[in-house]
Amino acid sequence: MSIENIKSSIRNVPDFPKKGIQFKDITTAVKKTEVLQEILEVMATQFANSKIDYVIGIESRGFIFGSALAYLLKCGFVPVRKSGKLPAKVISEEYSLEYGTDKLEIHEDALEKGVRVLIVDDLLATGGTAEAVAKLVKKCGAEIISFAFVVELKDLSGREKLAKYADTYSVVEY
Ligand code: AMP
Repeated sequence: MSIENIKSSIRNVPDFPKKGIQFKDITTAVKKTEVLQEILEVMATQFANSKIDYVIGIESRGFIFGSALAYLLKCGFVPVRKSGKLPAKVISEEYSLEYGTDKLEIHEDALEKGVRVLIVDDLLATGGTAEAVAKLVKKCGAEIISFAFVVELKDLSGREKLAKYADTYSVVEY
């Protein structure tokens, strides 16, 4: 198993959800036992000595990798969800999409001050989504140790956008 095997297991779907987008479909990768294990093992190895208190998973594909990674890192998992899904009191952050805006939320008591967190999603494109999560984490007074993604689309420079918050790690790049 290698990074090339992980890459070749990710399906490219042209023109989804709209014309011109090359959608990186991770469902074809995670259905394969050995590919799923390899992705999680390389991520866990990367952060094994980082003393992470919580992995933060971004709804919804960040949940697939985030909670499994938290298990391997022996730490807790905290979800960041789309607006209106979390039941208790939340902190919200609005962010821009190509058309209009969206909102992400975290429970206001989810992160204790000063805890060390790792922010996880399946894919980094422009970095707008992960930046909104970084702002939520900062509002809670927690420390961002790193961002981690399975896929990074280099041309969209998300890593540069996130650099003011923390370093970015990705398993495969396009
Ligand atoms: P961004 O905020 O631009 O970094 O976009 C990241 C979010 O949108 C992630 O939650 C991804 O799952 C999703 N996303 C953006 N572009 C793609 C793509 N080409 N293929 C798959 N997912 C994408």
